[in-house]
Amino acid sequence: SCNREDFPHRVVELMDGFKASKALFTACKLNVFDVLSDSKELSAKEVAKRIKASEEGSTRLLDACVSLGLLERRTHEEDGGLVYSNTEEASRFLVAGGPLSLHGYILHCNELVWPLFTHLECAVREGANQYERAFGKKSEDLFQDAYYKKEEVKLRFMNAMHSIAKVTAKDLATAFDLSMFKTVCDVGGCTGAMAYEFTQVYPNMSITVFDLPQVITMNSRFQAKEPNDRVTFVAGDFFKDPLPKAELYILARILHDWSLEKVHQLLDKLSKECSPGSGVLVCEILLGEDRRGPSRAFLQSLSMTEGAQRSASQYTLLLGQHGFTQTHVKHTNNLLDAMLFLKE
Ligand code: SAM
Repeated sequence: SCNREDFPHRVVELMDGFKASKALFTACKLNVFDVLSDSKELSAKEVAKRIKASEEGSTRLLDACVSLGLLERRTHEEDGGLVYSNTEEASRFLVAGGPLSLHGYILHCNELVWPLFTHLECAVREGANQYERAFGKKSEDLFQDAYYKKEEVKLRFMNAMHSIAKVTAKDLATAFDLSMFKTVCDVGGCTGAMAYEFTQVYPNMSITVFDLPQVITMNSRFQAKEPNDRVTFVAGDFFKDPLPKAELYILARILHDWSLEKVHQLLDKLSKECSPGSGVLVCEILLGEDRRGPSRAFLQSLSMTEGAQRSASQYTLLLGQHGFTQTHVKHTNNLLDAMLFLKE
């Protein structure tokens, strides 16, 4: 038998990591968690029928999901057959359409991130995004050239943003007391998911969601169940058009996407819009100051967009150059961390 120190547990786990990711993606894509949510418990044969897949393939996928802790399996009392059901985590986070569902984001990982990462070797050699190699098309601006050209791809991307925003928004809204800000603009606020959550937390807050016209025209598909007149939408390009006036600007997962030149362009514009005392809430994954983690941030940076992941002190320096002073930093333990800046 292998002595623990002689066996490379970590390496073996990483060798198999991509298979585990793809099993999760495939189970989501084939709606395994959804059919199990409708029926509570099903045999592999019944799952196979409902997801329109082979019985053999479905059995293997279901068993893989059991081994990964995503499903449970037990012997049925009556017929002695095996039946599968969702774990509590799968019910909450993997069933499509639930309030905290990551289904949309997982499909984005499967359809977009996975193909990009199959070309990681080229990405590293060239220091460039592999969109063209993976999808056969050039893209200068990832949003306008890649995501928003096709309706189906755009909706998938919006669903992905929507699902992440719903899972993170509450922790971001409550990271600091933001009740002094009555008018807020969520810059690149996409479907408004974050905005809706912020208005739930702050009853006196009104938020304008500013995003590209291609996104804003689709927003009716993502409306919160209860109508909320404190969330409004404005279409525009944050590099070209004026931003709505606000006391607080939210930049959630915006700064990491762009080249340093464009980041300065955007911050310069914000700085001109802001009067003293107004705020900027930056929501990003914050790198540790020793730049050793979290690996989620370092792995994301391998998608090789023109942007970069940064630490709290790097953001502080960056925004400092535009007259913003950092007042708070919060590591939320959620998918995004938060920093609050005030204009001097
Ligand atoms: N803030 C949202 C969140 O955290 O869930 C969405 C983040 S998503 C990574 C970036 C957003 O910026 C997208 O909704 C995209 O449409 C928007 N965006 C990209 N370029 C833009 C531009 N030039 N003007 C306005 N919005 C833009």
